This record gives sequence, C-alpha cells and structure tokens, in this order.
Amino acid sequence: MEKVAIIGTGCAGLTAALYAARAKLNPLVLTGIMPGGLLTTTSIVENYPGFPEGIDGCELMQRMQKQAERFGARIKFGTLEAADLSREPFVLTVDGERMETETLIIASGASHRHLGLESEDLLERKGVTYCATCDGALPLFRDQPLVVVGGGDSACEEATYLTRFGSVVYLVHRRDTLRASKIMAQRTLAHAKIQPIWDSVVTEVLDVKQDKVTGVRLKNLRTQKESVLAAAGVFVAIGHIPNTQLFKGVIDMDANGYIIPRQGTMTNVPGVFVAGDCSDHVYRQAVTAAGLGCAAAIDAERYLAARNE
Ligand SMILES: Cc1cc2nc3c(=O)[nH]c(=O)nc-3n(C[C@H](O)[C@H](O)[C@H](O)COP(=O)(O)OP(=O)(O)OC[C@H]3O[C@@H](n4cnc5c(N)ncnc54)[C@H](O)[C@@H]3O)c2cc1C
Repeated sequence: MEKVAIIGTGCAGLTAALYAARAKLNPLVLTGIMPGGLLTTTSIVENYPGFPEGIDGCELMQRMQKQAERFGARIKFGTLEAADLSREPFVLTVDGERMETETLIIASGASHRHLGLESEDLLERKGVTYCATCDGALPLFRDQPLVVVGGGDSACEEATYLTRFGSVVYLVHRRDTLRASKIMAQRTLAHAKIQPIWDSVVTEVLDVKQDKVTGVRLKNLRTQKESVLAAAGVFVAIGHIPNTQLFKGVIDMDANGYIIPRQGTMTNVPGVFVAGDCSDHVYRQAVTAAGLGCAAAIDAERYLAARNE
C-alpha cells in the first residue's frame, strides 16, 4: 500500500513528489497522458525563479522530475481511471490496475478550451497561445497587432495585460457585450489600445502556409460577413476545463469543476489533498502550482503523522 499517491507530473505534482520524497514517504506519482504537464508545451519559460536567462519548458520539467526521483519519488507512466474514496485506504484504478493508498494528492491540472480549428492547432506556439502572462512579452508580439478571443474576466485580463506589448489589442467576442464583471469590462473597454470586435467569431487562424500567425479570418454572426484582421498573435481566452471529472460528486468543487480546498490543501475528504491549476482558476502559473504542490505534500505528511500518533 502507498502512503502517498500523486496524480499528475506537472509543477504541482512534481513539487509535491519532491517534498513527500524528502519526508521519506516514498510517493508514487502518476504521469497521466501528459508527462511533465502543461509547461512541456511551451518553449521558453522566463518567469520561473532561479533561471535568469529563462529555461525551456521541457527541460524545467525534466529537472523537477530528476530532483524528486533523487529523493525516492517513483514516477509511473499511467492514468488514473477511477478512485474509490469512500473507504480507507483509498482504492485507485490505474490503467486497469488496482492500487491502495493512505493519502492522495490531486494535481491533475486544467486544460485550455480550444476554438476547435485545425489552423489553431497547427499554429500553436507559432503565434497562437493560451496564456498572455506566459507569452505576452515574447519578442514575436512586441509592437504588433494582437487578437484576444473571449469575453469573460480572463479575456479582459489578457487583453489589458497585452496592451503593454502590442500596438493594438483586438478583443473578439461572439456577443455584443462582455460577460466579464462590470468593473473589469468597463476598464477594458476604456483602454485606448483595446478595440472590441463584437458579434464575431474566428473561423480560421492565418497563415498555415507561412507557418506563423499573420491574422485571423472573422465571421460576423449578425451579418454573416467574413473579414480578415492582421495580427501577429492570437490569445485564446475562452476558459479552462479542470481535469477533475473523475472526482465529481465526491470531492467538493465549484460550478466549473475547480476543486475547493477546505483546510490548507485538504479537500472535504480527509486524506485527499489538492494542488495546482485543478484548484486554482486565478493565478495559473508554474510557480504558484509548485507552491501549492509543496503545501499539499506538507499537509499530507502532517495528516499521516497525526494518524499514526
Ligand atoms: C503554452 C503555455 C505556456 C505557459 N507558460 C508559462 C510560463 O511561461 N510561466 C508560468 O509560470 N506558467 C506558464 N504556463 C502555465 C503553467 O504551465 C501551469 O500553470 C502549470 O503547468 C500548472 O501546473 P499543474 O501541475 O497544476 O498542472 P499541469 O501542468 O497541467 O499538469 C497536470 C498533470 O496531471 C496529469 N493528469 C491529468 N489527469 C490525470 C489522470 N487522470 N491520471 C494521471 N495524471 C493525470 C497530466 O498528465 C499532467 O502531468 C503556461 C501554460 C501554457 C499552456
């Protein structure tokens, strides 16, 4: 039986693994289908402390894994398919295999909602991105027209942030008013560099042939008219889907599926802890995910120590 099982090998899972391993808990860490997590999908990470020149996302995650393994963390390539948290020890099904664990740290992250366009996928990391805080400062976007797709708080935040870098920021929204909170919407629309494009959807990201983003093809949903907008970057901000569906109805989560921690990182089920983007819809950064991973491992260690007293 495991003392600590960790779901996910992103920044949260691997940092939890490092701390749990150093506490001699010999954690088992499941990779899921994306070993290394979301950061492996980006090239240069410039805001993770300790790397003044920046570091490649894959390399950073490999280093995190090595560091956790050095202290005894066991990384297992596998996906959690089911979890019975109604009994102790908890029973996990991993790729059809049954295993038991005294504690569980859920660090399964959140996926970005995509527009669902083939051109979007083909131009990801070539001008299409899902995180302004992460990529906005890249030279590629400096003093260039940029497009943000979305109408909620995140889209407004992304658009406002991007005004520091872009020459103009087009905010493309499918309706004629923003869904964002009133104050956020007002602030966004008042910004001289932000230009809303209402009632419109992106039907194609241009230009796959050139292998870089040169603009977007838009369709006005009222008039059905098509147009082309020149841009060097497309920031898709239409929401995230936390990878928490497996725990629905058992672990408390908000309406969007983000797990709600109760005490520190502990969930409503004693012995089950949560860390990273699957519980954080506000910050969503590598360093905050790592911080929460650290907290979850410390909480799990203290929980186990109290039980064994
Ligand atoms: C393109 C891009 C660029 C970014 N750039 C930066 C940046 O420069 N700086 C920054 O701070 N942040 C950046 N981010 C954000 C950062 O990647 C995330 O905040 C961070 O990865 C969150 O870590 P996490 O561990 O919570 O989740 P994730 O990294 O999403 O990891 C989740 C892990 O859980 C696993 N998993 C999911 N379901 C299961 C399951 N059922 N069973 C087993 N495992 C499972 C996955 O396989 C994965 O290993 C960027 C994000 C993107 C998309």
